[in-house]
Amino acid sequence: MAQTKIKWLSHAGFQITSAKGKVIYIDPWFENPISSFKLDNVQEATLVLVTHDHFDHVGQAAEVVKKTGALLVANVETARKLQSEAQIPAEKVCYFGYGMNIGGNLLYEGISVTMTQAFHSTATGAPCGYVIKLEDGTTIYHAGDTGIFDSMKLLGELYKIDVAFLPIGSVFTMNTLQAAWAAKLIAPKKVIPMHYRTFPILIQDAKEFVELARREAPSVEVLALNPGEEYVYVK
Ligand SMILES: [Zn+2]
Repeated sequence: MAQTKIKWLSHAGFQITSAKGKVIYIDPWFENPISSFKLDNVQEATLVLVTHDHFDHVGQAAEVVKKTGALLVANVETARKLQSEAQIPAEKVCYFGYGMNIGGNLLYEGISVTMTQAFHSTATGAPCGYVIKLEDGTTIYHAGDTGIFDSMKLLGELYKIDVAFLPIGSVFTMNTLQAAWAAKLIAPKKVIPMHYRTFPILIQDAKEFVELARREAPSVEVLALNPGEEYVYVK
């Protein structure tokens, strides 16, 4: 049985370890009040994915890339900005330094990464989400920072998502009601809520989301993790 380890680092940050031991970081922002996971805890990594250039998402992405030699995946303009500001060598950015864009796909060391749309703001390029298909077929969707959109249903149908990471915190992203409906549209097996609790203005716990998701998407299991907590998905 294939086991994928999924650790919610806090906020939109995740560490995914595939059954074959490949490590992926998404939006690795460790310098926040609820993250006990720090750069020192980073050992190896194959890929670092960034959804957009806001500080709470870029976080320590450049440091992780430099420390591990992982490949950075970001949109074209954010990739360019990180290369010049954080001095990441072009060969450590996907597609020889170009980055990619919405709809684009990267196959790297047996892992498929597809950039998906997200409705949000950003200073460079367009914000995005990612569909990640691991070597064993386990498929994970990180929605990025976004409001709800009805083609989430299409993503669910197209990619048959096992685990979806959905923002629930409101203010900058979907709130609990939109996220519950997003769970219904995507119809993954599991949902892990994210982008809440970090700042006082965000929704502070997942209770309401759990209740709404139970009502709107009863077949989807919600896993409300604590920052730093790891969940093992068995395919
Ligand atoms: Zn943002």
